[in-house]
Parts: sequence; C-alpha cells; structure tokens
Amino acid sequence: MDSRYDRPVRTLLSLIIGSVAWLAAPSLPAQDFTLPDLGSSAESLATPEELRRYGRQLLGSFRQAGLLFDDPLLDEYIETLGYRLVAHGRRPDQHFKFFLIRDRTVNAFAAPGGYIGTYAGMVLLTEREDELAAVLAHEVAHITQNHTLRGAESASKASLPIMLGMLAAMVAASQSSSSSSGDAAQAAIMGGMGLMQQAQINYTRANEYEADRIGIQTLAGAGFDPFAQADVWVRMSRFARNYGVSPPEILRTHPFESTRIVEAKARAEGMTVVPRQDTVGSGHDGRYELFRERLRILTNGSSRDLVGYYRDRLDADPDSIYDRYGLALALSQRDSFNEATRLATGLVEAHPDTLAFALLLADIDGRNGREAQALARYRELNTRHPDRAAILAPYAELLLKHGDVDDATLAANLLRPLIDRDTDHAKLYALIGRAYEISGDENRAAEAHALSAAYNGRFEDSLVQFERLQRRSDLDYYQRARVQARITELMPIVLEIRRRPSSASRG
Ligand SMILES: [Zn+2]
Repeated sequence: MDSRYDRPVRTLLSLIIGSVAWLAAPSLPAQDFTLPDLGSSAESLATPEELRRYGRQLLGSFRQAGLLFDDPLLDEYIETLGYRLVAHGRRPDQHFKFFLIRDRTVNAFAAPGGYIGTYAGMVLLTEREDELAAVLAHEVAHITQNHTLRGAESASKASLPIMLGMLAAMVAASQSSSSSSGDAAQAAIMGGMGLMQQAQINYTRANEYEADRIGIQTLAGAGFDPFAQADVWVRMSRFARNYGVSPPEILRTHPFESTRIVEAKARAEGMTVVPRQDTVGSGHDGRYELFRERLRILTNGSSRDLVGYYRDRLDADPDSIYDRYGLALALSQRDSFNEATRLATGLVEAHPDTLAFALLLADIDGRNGREAQALARYRELNTRHPDRAAILAPYAELLLKHGDVDDATLAANLLRPLIDRDTDHAKLYALIGRAYEISGDENRAAEAHALSAAYNGRFEDSLVQFERLQRRSDLDYYQRARVQARITELMPIVLEIRRRPSSASRG
C-alpha cells in the first residue's frame, strides 16, 4: 500500500526506520527520488536468517500486543491466497509469511524477510477476492523487488541493527507491563505509528509504480481479474477522502493516485487472464466471503454486537449463506447456542463439504455441553482432511479440557506431525505443551512452552526456559541439539533487549 492513503505503519520495522529519520530530521519533507539499483548490496545488509529472525520478532511483538488472530482458519486462507500469488511472482522460491492484524486500519505492508501483514480493515474494504489478491500481489512485489531493504538502506546504513534495537525496546516495554495485558505493547506500536506518520518515510514513487506494474502481472498470472487493482485503489482513495484518514492536501498535491488508477486500468486492458484451474481461494467457491465474515466477527471482539447487523442483511437477502454463517458465528460468540445450532446445522446439511460450517457446529457443540458429539465431529473431519491446523487446534483443545491422560496422548500424537513441519502457529505449541504436561513428558512439555513464549514475543522468558532445560541431564541427543539451536538464536535478541534502558530500569 501507499501510506499516503493511510499513514499507519507499513511494518514495525519501517516505522522504526521512520522514527529514526524523524528524530534526526523532524522537518524532512516527503520526497520522491529514485534510488540507484542497489541490488546485492541491499541484500547484504542482512542475511536471510537475520531477516527471518527480525520477522519472527515482529510477529512475536504483534502477537504479544494482541494484534494477531491466531485463528487457524483465517491464517490458512490468507496463506493459501498469498502463496498462490508468490508462485506467480518474480521470485517464487523466496521466503514469505502472510499474516492478519486485528485492527480496522486500512492498510497492508511488507517487511524485510518476506513478512506481509494485512490489516483486517483492508480485508473488510475489499468486496471480492480479486481485490484482496491485488493488494497482496502489490506487497509481494515490494519484497521481490527488494524495496523494503532499499528503504532500510536509504534511511541509514546502520538501520537494520537500529531497527532491531528499537524493536527490542518496544518488546521490552511491553514485557514490563502486566503479563496479562498487551495494552503497553499495543500503545508502543500505536505510538510508533504516530512517529511513522510524521516521518513520512515511504517507498519512493518509483517503488510504488514498480510494485503496481509487477503486482498486476502476478495477479493476472495467478488467474485473478487484473482490473481488481484499479478497483481497490479507487476504493482506498474514496475511503481516505470520506474518513479523512490521510491529510487532504496530500491527496490534492499528489497526482499519484489518479495516475496510478488510470495506469492500472490501462495495464489491465492489455492483459490476458489465465483462467484459474483450481478453486483454491476462488471467490466463486465462497471461501473469501466466509473468511471475510469470520474476520469481521473476530475483529469486532465484544465492542459491538454484530447479531443485529446480520439480521438486517438477512432481511434483505434471506438466502445468503455468508450472512447466515455470520449470524450463527455472532450468536455463538455471545453463547446464544440454540439459534446458533439451528443455523449451523442447516448450513452443514446444505453444504456438507464446507469446512467452516462443520467447524462452527463442532465448536458450538463443544461449548454447549455436547462434548462427545463435538469430539466425534472433529474426529470425522480429521479423517476427511488430515493435518489441518484449523481442525486439530480446536480438537486438541477439547481433548485437553479435562486433563485425561489418554486424551492428552491422543492430542500430542495429532499435533506432533504439524509441529514437526515447523509451522508458525504459536497456539499449537501451547497446546502440545499442555498435552505433554498431562501425559507426563516433562522435557517435551518444557520445550514446547519455551517455544510458545518465544512465538508470543516473550524472548527473555523463553531463553531462561531453554537454559533451564539445557541443564537437565535426561535430554536425548536430538532434543539437546534443538535446545542448543534455540539458545543460539535467542541470545542476540535478548542481549539487545537487555541493553535497552526501558528494560534495565525495571530491574
Ligand atoms: Zn506499496
């Protein structure tokens, strides 16, 4: 995205670039200049391993601030859509990680290392999957064309170490608060966004045009409607005007938006769209619509009741399965189980192959005193769709509910293959940790809990747990090697955190 529309942070890392530049030169105006092609020198700023480490910290900070959903069904959707675009982009072998941010801001960003964050507000602004794909394709292009690293280099030669330090400071600030609340971290991130807004550090205009140009090729190559790029840019510019999220003078003085929209349309007219062969993520199979309604409800929290919203929509269109799903989910969120069960049962009967409906019904059963029935549903779903986190996470959670050893052993056996594939699902580590704990495997439980701490942005805590584990004499060879590798990885992060004044002052 272009932050001229909606300033908030493109990335924690870029906001840190922003804040560094802002501190150095508060009156620096936004500039458009073309950088020389830095090529490999930009990449040599950090190794791929370092970039992934920053990325993991970035995710950990977001998670600790309560800004991630950690909902496997939502994660699965955005990852599938993202990787589909990556496969048709310029560098299909590069590392990417797609995630969603629980915030109504209309923006998306790309961070070094291939970390692409999409705000819930951005998803909810789109009206079809092709538009969301256009946004992701644009961000993927920022990564494949090395814009994020060039941005870092243009801010300061030393910016990556500084970014790491400031990121660590934010993490430390959040850790010094009550562990039960992510408010401090959230405040730190929001404060950083303010700095970012003042710093006006953006991709250059040339970067934006290039990301549009390459993004639209990726979009069409992956079988999406290339006109969706212009459509979503129009939507964003209208949104910015209507809600004043961007200073109006910026929209007035920058020919950029109308030019970009005109160019996006012209480009789309000259493109041949490759028809999609499969239906993964396709707007026509309804996955996008179900994803969007789920996201709408999970973003909402308890702040507003969406039951009325869906009832109104169903009055206008009683046959919409998306609104019926939304209503059932909204009702189940506020424990109105009877009507939710009736709606979900109807959806499952009419669409037995739609996983989102089946999972909703199982979830309602599990929370509504019909645990045996819920377990049977999860078991059956797991047979039909093996190794899916969206099924195994709630299944394991229910198995662990009563602390039964056999159930816990089953849960551990179900989760282990997923974990062995090194998924980034922080929630799974917490679950398998509990499963090992109940089934009596202390060392594996300790390892899972330590990992869970790291994925949740509690790096010092995680290091302490790994070091304690390392001192045990009864680790097997492989576990000891894994523990050692984690300590090596965590040490530089924690040293950086300890160097920060905000961390030192809390003793
Ligand atoms: Zn952009």
